[in-house]
Parts: sequence; structure tokens; C-alpha cells
Amino acid sequence: MHVRRGGRDPKSGRVRGFQSETQRQNFMIGRARCCNGPNREMPRCAALTRLGQPCRAARMQNQQTCFRHNAAAKRSRLVAARLSGDLDRIQRAEMRAERNRLCVVWRRDPREPGKTIMLVPSDEASCQAWAARQGFQLDLLDRDLPAFSDAIRWIWARMSRGLISEGDLNVKLARLRSRMEANPCRRSSGMNVGDLYR
Ligand SMILES: [Zn+2]
Repeated sequence: MHVRRGGRDPKSGRVRGFQSETQRQNFMIGRARCCNGPNREMPRCAALTRLGQPCRAARMQNQQTCFRHNAAAKRSRLVAARLSGDLDRIQRAEMRAERNRLCVVWRRDPREPGKTIMLVPSDEASCQAWAARQGFQLDLLDRDLPAFSDAIRWIWARMSRGLISEGDLNVKLARLRSRMEANPCRRSSGMNVGDLYR
């Protein structure tokens, strides 16, 4: 992970970046507790997921649900971004819209090329090694079924930041494996999913 040391913020006078590995770890522990993870201590979203289970994400301030379960909030964020005139913000909103579009495409055909997450080289190496231990060959998946290698990178990224508990991780991996098994494209492409994970 990139660590920028030294240098002070001219406004607040605070030293930028993590000053030690301990500080970084403490931050990640604190963040896992108060952002959207298994150890969170904030009020939960009141909505049900598509599987009929209660959503476990944080609810928004003065709202009963999380951002994902609030279509009006999503729309107004997009509109606000477009009206802001802030190019950076507009670009981020468009990237989000593009990522969402790709996820819809992937539900139909996981072979469509694309990526919604890019890891820095050192993280990519750790992710590849972890995926290999789980039996996934990321390089082959990148070539044949990018939807699944993308999903694996997201799982790794969230897990390595302490946002997924051990139990959730197993559930996610099992769901991913069954989606790969059920993937109808493997027959038409003559590809054997067994080659991609063991
Ligand atoms: Zn929710």
C-alpha cells in the first residue's frame, strides 16, 4: 500500500499520511468498526436484500436505509454531480455509472471484457497469490471470464481491509463458485470451468 510520509496540510497543519505501520493498522481496525463491515457499530439499514435477509449496511444520516437501498438518494447524487460543474466529481459519477452498467452486462454474459477495480502492483501480486490458494487462476479468468476475476479482486480488496468476516468470506466464495459452475457460457465456448479453478 502506498504510504506518503511527511508534508503538512497548509490549512490544518496536520502531518499527511500514515506515520507508521501501527498507525495504519489502527486506522484500518477503526475503519472496519465504523464503516460498512462485519464489526460495525452503527445503525443498520432497514431494507431487505434480494435474498430476503436484512441489509447489514450502515443507514444514512436521518434515513432508514443505506445508500444502495435508496433510489432517490442515488438519483439526486447523480443529478447533483452533473449540476456541480466540478469536472472531477462529474467524472467520478460517470465512472460509477459505467461500473454499474458493466455489472448489468456481466449478469448476462460474464465473458464481456472489462474491469471495475484496479489494484496497485503489490496488491495485485498479493491478490493473485491469495486467489491461487483459493483455487482461482486470475490470469485465465481475466482472459475468459473477466466478471469473475473482477469479483475475486473485490472480495480480496474488502477482505484485506478487514471489511469481510471469515464466515461471510466463505459464503461469498461458495456463491462465486456456484455462479461459475452455473455459467451457461462455458458450454458454448467449449471452455472447461474446471481449468479456471480447482
Ligand atoms: Zn441497505
